Amino acid sequence: MEITYTKKLVKEVNKWLKKNGFTTRCAFDKESDLCYSPDEDLIYVPKEYNGEPDSLFMRCLRNLGLTSDFDTITLSFLHELGHAQTLHLLTTKESKKCDVLKAMYAVALDEDDDDFYLKYWEVTDEVMANKWAVMYADCFDKKVQRLEEIISENVKFG
Ligand SMILES: [Zn+2]
Repeated sequence: MEITYTKKLVKEVNKWLKKNGFTTRCAFDKESDLCYSPDEDLIYVPKEYNGEPDSLFMRCLRNLGLTSDFDTITLSFLHELGHAQTLHLLTTKESKKCDVLKAMYAVALDEDDDDFYLKYWEVTDEVMANKWAVMYADCFDKKVQRLEEIISENVKFG
């Protein structure tokens, strides 16, 4: 399933971030993947979303104890916010090690292969971001429900 994000989404999500006490903001970047930029404290939102590796992502969140039933798009966003919220727990050296491991997996394994994602989701910074996303989704159900409404009202399916 292809999803197109709209510029209004970014505006509304930024309001949600501010209202809920986050300093992180998001920005639209049609060339980018959904990702977090630590230097700018920005979550880049792509033009399109292709939900293919999602079943492994969801399985990973369930394994970490996720009980709520939010959409993968909402949880992917929480994952990026999770990077922003947990990054300070890693030293520069530890953070670099995570990047090196992910780069190595990308070279050694096919990125379309399940094995790549199974390894990827085991890297410390990814585990931290996923655990944070699980915690936030399960502890702040109403806030995340509102985020999900904002997302579903501002994406185009097709
Ligand atoms: Zn990540």
